[in-house]
Amino acid sequence: VEAQPILSMNSVEVLYDNVMLAIKGVSVQVPKGEMIALLGSNGAGKSTTLKAISGLLKAERGRVSRGEIKFEGTDITDMLAQNRVAQGICHVIEGRRVFEHLTPEENLTAAAPSGMSRSALNVEKEKIYNYFPRLAERRNSLSGYLSGGEQQMLAIGRALVTQPKLLMLDEPSLGLAPFLVAEIFGILQKINKEDGMSVLLVEQNALAALEIVSEGYLIENGRVVMNGTAEALKANSDIQEFYLGAG
Ligand code: ATP
Repeated sequence: VEAQPILSMNSVEVLYDNVMLAIKGVSVQVPKGEMIALLGSNGAGKSTTLKAISGLLKAERGRVSRGEIKFEGTDITDMLAQNRVAQGICHVIEGRRVFEHLTPEENLTAAAPSGMSRSALNVEKEKIYNYFPRLAERRNSLSGYLSGGEQQMLAIGRALVTQPKLLMLDEPSLGLAPFLVAEIFGILQKINKEDGMSVLLVEQNALAALEIVSEGYLIENGRVVMNGTAEALKANSDIQEFYLGAG
């Protein structure tokens, strides 16, 4: 029996500026404790799907014009973004935003939810440094001097400090060398397995993503055109031709 969905998105449409229909009836389920990928090319609607879930659409003059989004059974479609964070939804946006003039240590402290005790924060930090030993080594250097891969690790670390139930990552592999992608994806898999954290991963790198997720959705032109287990997607000839570079 499959786990209960922690997130359930049903027939969601998103409009930007009241005219641009960016997603056209997307349904996505994230079973509790699973790692799921949204795949597809540039402009397909993957980032918009994540923003609909985290509530970041509003800042871009976008809104959900149809459908509903439920998190742990609660309708969050119109909930304020900060309240969704409080519910346990964390969205690491594209482009690894960290405070470059702060150290990793200070970046993690700054990401802590208000009210988190110093001791609880220290426990989380040590957990994060255990997952990312490279960050531990550079914990007191300025973050602006970290490599792209280390900054991505820090961006993920900043999300983990909030102890989310659902971690959403937008293109964590962007611009990284293949060995670093493998390293970061291996750590994500470990976090998912050891902490039971549910993960929704947006990736153009289908080959790497399908190695770590249990299930994937292929989005094209604002619609889900394919959904299946990672095994089924890897075996699909269209996916192989267009997304796995096996054409
Ligand atoms: P990418 O990997 O390039 O981010 P994507 O699959 O995540 O691609 P989205 O960024 O969700 O795609 O974009 C989906 C569609 O919505 C595109 O046609 C895009 O141009 C449009 N779009 C995205 N953001 C906005 C916005 N703020 N205002 C208007 N249109 C937007």
